[in-house]
Amino acid sequence: MIKRLSLVIQGAVQGVGFRPFIFRLASEMDLKGWIINSSQGVFIEVEGTDVILNRFISRIREEKPGPSFIQSLESKYLDPVGFKAFEIKKSEDKGVKTVIVLPDIATCPDCLNEVFDPKNRRYLYPFTNCTNCGPRYSIIESLPYDRPNTAMKHFSMCEKCQKEYDNPLDRRFHAQPNACPDCGPRVQLWDNKGKVLTEKEEALEMVVQRINNGEVIAIKGLGGFHLVVNAQDIKAVSKLRRRKNRDEKPFALMFPNIESIKFECKVSQNEEQLIHSSESPIVILDKLSSGQSNLAENVAPGNPSLGVMLPYTPLHYVLMQLLGKPIVATSGNLSDEPICIDEIEALDRLKHITDCFLVHNRPIVRQVDDSLVRIVKNRELVLRRSRGYAPLPVMLKTRAVSMLAVGAHQKNCVALNIENRVFISQHIGDLETEEAFNAFEKTISSIKNLYDADIKQIICDAHPEYLSSKYTKDIDTPNIEVQHHFAHMASCIAENEIEGPVLGIIWDGTGYGVDGKIWGGEFIHFSKKRFKRVGSLKNFLLPGGNQAVKEPRRTAVGLLFEMYGKEFTDRQDLKPVTAFQSNELKIILQMLDKNLNAPQTSSMGRLFDGVASILGLKQEISFEGQAAIELEYLAWESKTEVSYQVIVVDNLVQWQDCIFEIIKELNQGQSISLIAHKFHNYLVDIIIYFAKHFGEQKVVLSGGCFQNRLLTEKAIDALEKNGFQPYWHQRIPPNDGGIALGQIFIASLKH
Ligand code: ZN
Ligand code: ZN
Ligand code: FE
Repeated sequence: MIKRLSLVIQGAVQGVGFRPFIFRLASEMDLKGWIINSSQGVFIEVEGTDVILNRFISRIREEKPGPSFIQSLESKYLDPVGFKAFEIKKSEDKGVKTVIVLPDIATCPDCLNEVFDPKNRRYLYPFTNCTNCGPRYSIIESLPYDRPNTAMKHFSMCEKCQKEYDNPLDRRFHAQPNACPDCGPRVQLWDNKGKVLTEKEEALEMVVQRINNGEVIAIKGLGGFHLVVNAQDIKAVSKLRRRKNRDEKPFALMFPNIESIKFECKVSQNEEQLIHSSESPIVILDKLSSGQSNLAENVAPGNPSLGVMLPYTPLHYVLMQLLGKPIVATSGNLSDEPICIDEIEALDRLKHITDCFLVHNRPIVRQVDDSLVRIVKNRELVLRRSRGYAPLPVMLKTRAVSMLAVGAHQKNCVALNIENRVFISQHIGDLETEEAFNAFEKTISSIKNLYDADIKQIICDAHPEYLSSKYTKDIDTPNIEVQHHFAHMASCIAENEIEGPVLGIIWDGTGYGVDGKIWGGEFIHFSKKRFKRVGSLKNFLLPGGNQAVKEPRRTAVGLLFEMYGKEFTDRQDLKPVTAFQSNELKIILQMLDKNLNAPQTSSMGRLFDGVASILGLKQEISFEGQAAIELEYLAWESKTEVSYQVIVVDNLVQWQDCIFEIIKELNQGQSISLIAHKFHNYLVDIIIYFAKHFGEQKVVLSGGCFQNRLLTEKAIDALEKNGFQPYWHQRIPPNDGGIALGQIFIASLKH
């Protein structure tokens, strides 16, 4: 008997060739009916027998286009109405906007072939794309995802492009950013006053020449500007460092192809797949140990790893093909500012950094940075979640009214939920500057508008001084505060879709505790919708507060004061002590002794800093986490299962016993790499101690310290070996980029 099948498909099904796919499938199976895109998802009706209709559903699941993602597929059977053909209906715009906006997708192999085919009309055209690839999130202004709602609305398609766009059997059927050299966006080369030097292919050729000449070029790409120099030119790299005001932080690199990456780095199969994925992130790889390298040493000074990526738009592919060597491709901004997306604004903000601008006239609707990913335990661990990942949702188990979470202070991103879907914004950055705060406000209004969200509640961090927290106080909507480390833990629970009871090992640099102290080395228990701190590092003093974050020697002195009292200043064998002038040390001693501007902390991030300082690795740092990162890399240089003795009193980790041992070994001439490794083992032993003590099967690892691969992998192994079930992050960062998701999760428990 003939029936009418009605389907509602939700997920990432718009702008990925889903409608032409259904059209082809229905034609092949001789099914009549229609398909329509709406802001609620894709609706399909077809008529046929039970058997054929069931086959239709399973073939949709099995054969759907690569980048699409079916989140839900609801079906019901109705009386037939007698369709005569299969048609694709025009989009309609009504109902709750719960459709999923896709991230930007790296150029597909079909498009690449065309771009490098001299006979193709898109030969070397930098804006080539199709339904399987190209810009999405960075060009969409509102839903539904149709050309008039994107940054492509100002370009009207030429006859040939329109034909492709209208033809259901074409790869470019309804490819909203479809364009060609005749009708689409074009590039221009500007000098740093905005004067047009040349355009199109000639501009690309000239850029390549200028890169070879050692110039710094600002290149407008997909989600913002890059600052680019020849990665093999030490002078060019140091010019960029000087102008960008960035001393030592490693630069990300773009390579022409995978072979050139393999010349510099070890690449595992997982890593290679990730480098080639449609997300196309910056992947952190270990440099080859052979020491051979064509790169300038100041690209990532003293760093045994590199952040690398392949080109991900035709613009980058063409440039890299012409250039044939790696470039530094760092965000187009001054340090601490958000990435620049507009060429007029760039002229002002970047003119002192760059020698010229390669720009184009396709507007960027929102900034989308390159994502940063590392493979940990054979899985992805996203450290910065932006291009390729944002704004795909995380699903909660329960529905809640729409809420907006404004995240933390560093690595800020925001999130909102529509029922049980949490949409997490792209990375915004540290809210240190006016530009960053503007980007924060803009992102909030743009994400609210995009999903047409009726926000009933706002959630912020409990830290009263965070700009994000202050922002919520001026808004009428009811707002609540969520403790920082509870939010870290919740983000990991939400991402892994697990339920309590759970023990959380939540270690990071800084977060405001419910007792007003600085937390960061926390053990948290979650069950029955409640988070409770059940242990931590024993507190120590941070002389100078925030200043200690930039000077590991201050933290170290805080530790030494706790261990030796005032007498530590006589210990000339201790590196943190000799790292100060004697008058500086006097002032710091006063801070500690009189408890002036020396807040108490239980921060694990600071304990890492303190150890790095005591080992003589780093006394002052030039970017966040530098000392801890160097300590990890140092530890990788040796191998040992030996540890320091774990002593815990009243659920407080007595770290001073470990530091006494470290100092003793240092004075005995023990290798600092071995000590660094033993320190990591000690931390893993602490995790096992608490896991056994509380006896929960599930153990969650979150917080910025779990960006450390050695610590994370060793902790996972040890937990599994001891019969626990560890959970860690994958698509959501363990650092403060995950806070917004955790905030929503915790607030949703209250509904
Ligand atoms: Zn394509
Ligand atoms: Zn065209
Ligand atoms: Fe944190």
